[in-house]
Amino acid sequence: MCQWQGCAEPAPHRAPMGRGREGQYFQFCVAHVQQYNKTYNYFDGMSDSEVEAYQKSAATGHRPTWTVGANSMAHGRETDPHHHRFSEGPGRPRRPGDPFGLFNDGETKPGAKRPDNPALGNMARKSLRALNLDDHASKLEIKTRFKQLVKRHHPDANGGDRSSEDRLREIIVAYNYLKQAGLC
Ligand SMILES: [Zn+2]
Repeated sequence: MCQWQGCAEPAPHRAPMGRGREGQYFQFCVAHVQQYNKTYNYFDGMSDSEVEAYQKSAATGHRPTWTVGANSMAHGRETDPHHHRFSEGPGRPRRPGDPFGLFNDGETKPGAKRPDNPALGNMARKSLRALNLDDHASKLEIKTRFKQLVKRHHPDANGGDRSSEDRLREIIVAYNYLKQAGLC
C-alpha cells in the first residue's frame, strides 16, 4: 500500500529515502512517486538539512509529527540569527504592516528600491519579486535569499501550514527559473 499519508493505492514504485538513509525506500503509487520525485528535484544540488527534512516529510503529507516547541529547540532556531520565531505561522497574528520592520530579514526596504533593469525579461523580474529581490540582485544575493526563504516558509517551521507550502513552491519555481536563466 502507498506510504503517502492518506493514500491507499497499490504501491509498485519505490523511491529512495535520501541522504543518510541509503538503501531505504518508500513505496508509493504512481501519482505519489511522481510528486515525491518532483519535490526531490526541486532541491537539486543543495545539501541543506532543511531540504532533506522537506523531502522526508513529503511522505507524510507535511503533517507535523512533533510538538512545535520541541521542534524549534531541536533545530537550534534560538541561535539562528536569520530566523525570527514570529514568522507567518498558524496562531500567530499576521503582520498587518510591520511598521517596525521586525519581519524584514534584510529584504528590500521600501524606498530603497533601485530602478528596474530593462535587460531582464518579465519572467526573471517576476521570479526576483517572488524572492523579494529587485532587478539588481547578485547571484550570491539570490542564493542567500532563496535559502532564507526556504527555511522561513518550510512547512516544518510553520506547523505544517498548507499556505506556507504554497509560498515555498512559488519560491522554488522562481529560483529554478533564475537558475536555468543563468542569473544565479
Ligand atoms: Zn499514493
